[in-house]
Amino acid sequence: MKNDYEAVIGLEIHVQLNCETKMFCACPNRPGDEPNRNTCPICLWLPGNLPRFSEEALEKAILASLALECEIQEESAFDQKVYYYPDLPKGYQLSQFHMPLAKYGCLTIADESGAKREIRIRKVHMEEDVARLVHENEGRTPVSLVDFNRAGVPLVEIVTEPDLCNPGDAMEFLKALIRRIRTSGSSECSMEQGTMRVDANVSIRPRGSDELNSKVEIKNMNSIRNVGDAIAYEIRRQVNCFRTGEPIVIHTRLWDPEKRVTSPMRGKFEGPCVPDPSVPRIVVAGEYLQRIRNLLPEMPEMKAERFVKDYGLTREESLMLSAERGLSEYFEAAVSCDAPPRLAAQWISAHLLPTLKERGETLSTSLLTPERFAGLLLMLEHDEINSSTAKEVLKRIVESDAPLGEIVEQGGYRQVSSVEELEVIVDRVLEENISAVENYRKGASKALGFLMGQAMQATKGKANPLRLKEIMMRKLE
Ligand code: ADP
Ligand code: MG
Ligand code: ZN
Repeated sequence: MKNDYEAVIGLEIHVQLNCETKMFCACPNRPGDEPNRNTCPICLWLPGNLPRFSEEALEKAILASLALECEIQEESAFDQKVYYYPDLPKGYQLSQFHMPLAKYGCLTIADESGAKREIRIRKVHMEEDVARLVHENEGRTPVSLVDFNRAGVPLVEIVTEPDLCNPGDAMEFLKALIRRIRTSGSSECSMEQGTMRVDANVSIRPRGSDELNSKVEIKNMNSIRNVGDAIAYEIRRQVNCFRTGEPIVIHTRLWDPEKRVTSPMRGKFEGPCVPDPSVPRIVVAGEYLQRIRNLLPEMPEMKAERFVKDYGLTREESLMLSAERGLSEYFEAAVSCDAPPRLAAQWISAHLLPTLKERGETLSTSLLTPERFAGLLLMLEHDEINSSTAKEVLKRIVESDAPLGEIVEQGGYRQVSSVEELEVIVDRVLEENISAVENYRKGASKALGFLMGQAMQATKGKANPLRLKEIMMRKLE
């Protein structure tokens, strides 16, 4: 029955830009500080103060828009979005409605089957964040407090066309969007920390139809997972309404992360939007736009393709490395110091990242520079150390910045590869394990593993395994 219907989904995404200051004053953009510390007459919205538009906010909003392949509009302007609420005591929010900064973007996602889908971005506009309400229900009388640290923090709102059709695609879209905006350097986009907030618009229609039915807007999801779950719940709820003949009324619902349901919050409310006379029109063109375009780093999807082509990585390896800018920069820095690319990719994901995680460190805080990491991989590649000692060396070079050579020599990690040395060891092992040798000669091939193990132990795990095996086989013949 459910298959008779399909979902139509559009997202509205608010992203806090990681600027030094707020959007219209010089107060620090640090909403998490002690409440109401980062305020001034402008962002307390006291009468008689003119906003001063931040160029950094414009630049970061343009970077975010370019990362989403939008067309930057030559002229854009602020409007006053009029409504009153305790978190907006001046009675209107500076936002762009009639003339947004950017339009006609696009983000390509791959669905579960690997098929590509283009999700159109209708527009990206700038606006100021509102204050934060803190409700305290404990104690004598419940109170609501207002924290203005967030008032005036620079935001972009990204609005998609209703091109998504299931919760999985919506989640993929958000992941792709986060990767791109993070790469652009304009925001961390953390739903958990509140630097990104997502509203989901959901409607359903008979499968194959192209009408747009009344939609419901869902708010209050604090993770990508919850966005997916809230959309899935809402689709089931609306299909039920359809089947029982209950009309779907346009309204806003809240996601309850505990009960995992959406419940009605309020009717749809849209205040008037009137042009704001206090902020000048914004003109973005020519050399200025070109300069910002040049600042935009390579986007993760392009980078992943290039890694496959240039370094012979697998698709999985290159996707893993290109997802985070710090990670891909580290990888490419190691490769430019002659680290073999595939070995570097494998060691970064299998050993380096887990080791750092265990130590509560990241690539950027680690003592292990890409140069020294490359040095380690080169020693491994040239058989100067073997892979099990390389893991030991890795543990040492993340905790000290001593030269790699010194750590290897002092720790006695260098691989034993000299034929003479290995022959002495093999001779001794064969003498000491006569019964295993006899078993091997009688055809018990398992005995070889045992003898190799003994010899390896005798070198404290430092033997070149291939060479050791060669010598062992020769002596056993
Ligand atoms: P509103 O005027 O209610 O804000 P908009 O046209 O501005 O609606 O669209 C807001 C968001 O809702 C956009 O992301 C858009 O893609 C999405 N949307 C619009 N119509 C529908 C629909 N019928 N079903 C689902 N999403 C929709
Ligand atoms: Mg709207
Ligand atoms: Zn201020």
